Amino acid sequence: MSEKLVIIGSGPAGLTAAVYAARADLSPLMIEGFERGGQLMLTTDVENYPGFPDGIMGPDLMDHFRKQAERFGTRILSSDVTRVDFSEHPFRVWVGEDLHEAETVVIATGASARWLGLPNETRLRGHGVSACATCDGFFFRDKPIAVIGGGDSAMEEALFLTKFGSRVTVIHRRHEFRASKIMAHRVMDHPKIDVMWDTVVEDVEGEQAVSALILRDVSSGETSKLDVEGVFVAIGHDPNTQVFRGQLELDAAGYIVTAPGTTRTSVEGVFAAGDVVDHIYRQAVTAAGMGCMAAIDSERWLEARHG
Ligand code: NAP
Repeated sequence: MSEKLVIIGSGPAGLTAAVYAARADLSPLMIEGFERGGQLMLTTDVENYPGFPDGIMGPDLMDHFRKQAERFGTRILSSDVTRVDFSEHPFRVWVGEDLHEAETVVIATGASARWLGLPNETRLRGHGVSACATCDGFFFRDKPIAVIGGGDSAMEEALFLTKFGSRVTVIHRRHEFRASKIMAHRVMDHPKIDVMWDTVVEDVEGEQAVSALILRDVSSGETSKLDVEGVFVAIGHDPNTQVFRGQLELDAAGYIVTAPGTTRTSVEGVFAAGDVVDHIYRQAVTAAGMGCMAAIDSERWLEARHG
């Protein structure tokens, strides 16, 4: 028997889709993935999710989402999807050898921030190391901050962080930015921003929280120490779409393409929501909004098909 709806992914988009779909009697099956809860599981305080005036810890927020989805009968499988076949209806979704057939699918597998891969960077995530200025910039009021990267995201984060930091240092591994000229100029002309060119981060220092970066000048090989309390890694995100390649239309960066203003993908009956689609806003609340849209789109699609 096929499922009416299989939801792949369990961040704000997937779990909101589950709440709406479960309340609409679609009895959704969620395949939550091994990194359940998504990127909010890697953050500490969330102060901009509406409804929590005192803020909430990222993992606690996701726990609330999950309980709400389960309350209305969402069934949750704690595994990763390994293969899909959307070429025929019902759609087929595999978890290892286990096959799940589905009338509709909502994809909400999110995106993952790229990290530098330094051991102390991982240890200090949420304690000074972040990949989201909008989420965490506020915690570094009047503190020195570094931003790593040379693309538009790094420029945007650096400019945003000037509202908080005492100084913002942009550290880029080459001698020119990849970012658009206008953004690059805004950064270079900003009185509160310094740029360190041809520089890579060798290590992040700090016991309980970040205290400094160890840097290396790639042309001279010299190392130096920069005292900072916040480090924003802005070296890009990767959408989690490997398993959907060849099944759905993806854009050049690998994000799922949806029809404007909807969550419809290039395959009828397959919907997508959250950061796997959106590389612009990337907020929990926008992802949740899209998850709601995906559930409503699925419900209407099923209704039109079966009456
Ligand atoms: P991006 O354009 O791919 O830039 C990534 C930056 O990180 C590059 O400067 C790259 O250096 C650097 N980098 C990558 N791996 C690194 C590593 N291991 N160590 C040190 N540095 C590393 O990514 P993005 O800035 O996230 O932007 C993604 C897309 O979204 C782009 O198309 C961008 O234009 C768009 N976007 C637009 C806006 C806007 O218009 N407001 C805002 C944000 C993003 P290299 O330059 O040496 O490769």
